[in-house]
Amino acid sequence: MKWEENIRRVVPYVAGEQPNKPNMIKLNTNECPYPPAPGVAKLASEMDSNALRLYPDPNTTPLVKALAEYYHVRQEQVFVGVGSDDVLSMAFLTFFNSDKPILFPDVTYSFYDVWADLYRIPYKTCALDENWHIRPEDYGQPNGGVIFPNPNAPTGVFESLKTVEEIVRENRDVVVIVDEAYVDFGGESALSLLDKYDNLLIVQTFSKSRSMAGLRIGFCIGNEKLLGYLNDVKFSINSYTMNLPAQLLGVEAVRDDSYFKSVTAKIAATRERVKGELKELGFSFPDSKANFIFASHGTIPAEQIFLALREADIYVRYWNKPRISNCLRITVGTDGQMDKLIGFLSEYVVKHH
Ligand code: PMP
Repeated sequence: MKWEENIRRVVPYVAGEQPNKPNMIKLNTNECPYPPAPGVAKLASEMDSNALRLYPDPNTTPLVKALAEYYHVRQEQVFVGVGSDDVLSMAFLTFFNSDKPILFPDVTYSFYDVWADLYRIPYKTCALDENWHIRPEDYGQPNGGVIFPNPNAPTGVFESLKTVEEIVRENRDVVVIVDEAYVDFGGESALSLLDKYDNLLIVQTFSKSRSMAGLRIGFCIGNEKLLGYLNDVKFSINSYTMNLPAQLLGVEAVRDDSYFKSVTAKIAATRERVKGELKELGFSFPDSKANFIFASHGTIPAEQIFLALREADIYVRYWNKPRISNCLRITVGTDGQMDKLIGFLSEYVVKHH
């Protein structure tokens, strides 16, 4: 068809499946197995639906204010979006506008190349080393910007702030985005570098550590000037990206710091326990600081285990992609869920050895 010639075509990102079975164990999209902070439920039950008549605050002021206070930055340094995917997509569109390729790791969040394709941003991937670590020297080549998650996804590998700083320092002429979706489970945020580097943008989300994937809240923190440009693009697309309930409920999640800390500590403790058990069953994996483990078995192919788990209504994530086709990304669930996973795998491994 002639009209097809004028269409912006793209191969979309494929999200993990969202099955809805009563007894399933869902360890495939890195959601939090615990409910949001109690204040979120309380406010949700008290919400007045009449307030929905009006447009929400286009600047998401209460949430921006709460985040600025929590992270000890100025309000002008905080930008909120509909999940960090929204923030990242907007950041790609705003900051990656060069003829030179942007750089990101070869094994990483598989949305980056989709946004690059969508926005016609040239990109080049840099191979992680054999231990799944970033080689900072790769990021010294000419480029139009840099993005990487820390900890990385789907590996869970955390890069030291020294490595992060080296990359940001070597790239003062472009914007470096650090996607910290999983930083709250034992990594260290690059927020402390913001005073030194005006080309650094840090992106985080409420979807994992704050148990609110369903509400869609993400944010970024950076230099005020950088965020000014990001806001210009946002307000050129849609003023009211974030709905009113999300704005209000997000504030409640930020307020309850002790709940946040206890949930993230609990997940980190479960992760460390499960690492030991997986090892005993013959799995190996890079040391994860995220809420998932990227595991391969010594003798049984990952795809086979993935399908067997699925048959048992235990969902993990598997990609048939170069370098990672023998790995399973297993989200850390509750202790009870992980006991069931390990129970299943123990029997399975014995049977298929
Ligand atoms: N960054 C990374 C590395 C992720 O794995 C995810 C989750 N798919 C996101 C960003 C986006 O999460 P959300 O849009 O739910 O904030």
